[in-house]
Amino acid sequence: MIHVVHHPAYVTPAPARSTYRWNKNGLIRDLLLAHGDRIAWHEPETTPRVWLEAVHDEDYVAEVLEARVPREKERRIGFPVTPLVAARAAIVPNGTWVAACLALEHGFAANTAGGSHHALATTGAGYCVFNDLAVAAVRMVEEGRADRVLVVDCDVHQGDGTAALLAGRPEIATYSIHAAKNFPVRKACSTIDVALPDGVDDDGYLDALDSTLVPLLDEMRPDLILYQAGVDPFVDDRLGRLSLTLEGLERRERLVAGLAIARGVPLASTVGGGYGDDALAIAERHVAAILTLGEAFGTQDGAGA
Ligand SMILES: [Zn+2]
Repeated sequence: MIHVVHHPAYVTPAPARSTYRWNKNGLIRDLLLAHGDRIAWHEPETTPRVWLEAVHDEDYVAEVLEARVPREKERRIGFPVTPLVAARAAIVPNGTWVAACLALEHGFAANTAGGSHHALATTGAGYCVFNDLAVAAVRMVEEGRADRVLVVDCDVHQGDGTAALLAGRPEIATYSIHAAKNFPVRKACSTIDVALPDGVDDDGYLDALDSTLVPLLDEMRPDLILYQAGVDPFVDDRLGRLSLTLEGLERRERLVAGLAIARGVPLASTVGGGYGDDALAIAERHVAAILTLGEAFGTQDGAGA
């Protein structure tokens, strides 16, 4: 079984003035539903406000939850924070936390949203409202469920918000492999940043990932990985700059899963970025990531737990 966390509120109609494609999460759900009894579904609750305030400024949390985010911040986010968008944003971090808890139990679990790695303490940015990765990482440590959490961010954009929000926490490390010239212009400082030149292909990407992630894993020895599995390094992605093929993305998931499995580290995945006009094709890439990761861990534990 592959443990998948989903909430109906993830599927939100697009607010006006949005450049983000909102039908992605519904298509991901539908594609996973087609896999029937291979998937065990879990529904998260609304994230407790104090969890959000553990990483975000309490004024910003209030602005979002009350759907009164200033226009300047909404422009930075890329869409208006309507009551529906706010309700969704308040659930997604709990979804990543539920996925992390399920991963501790079963080896792997996936949230069908999240990976909102650009969200900062006082504002959202780049289609991200609350930083679910930072919220979940801090929560898992504070609850004593994990001693050392590593956030592995393979989205083509740097995980600047995650790096900034989690800096100075010795129990949590951040890793980001991204296109150097891509958004955000001003990068934050992750524990390890791997900035790639434009056009890197499958082999170049996988070599860079393997040679930089392995030493970090062996030095830090995390007992939980939160994975931002953005599919925007894909060659035809509208906002990417890299040249990974579908096979390259699949090899990436097998590499990340294999490194975690070999060290006995549970892994919870989030969706992350993936952009273009063909929403179904993008959703298929995200679902392929979830299934590839789930199959790798499922093969490992044999019992299919
Ligand atoms: Zn991205």
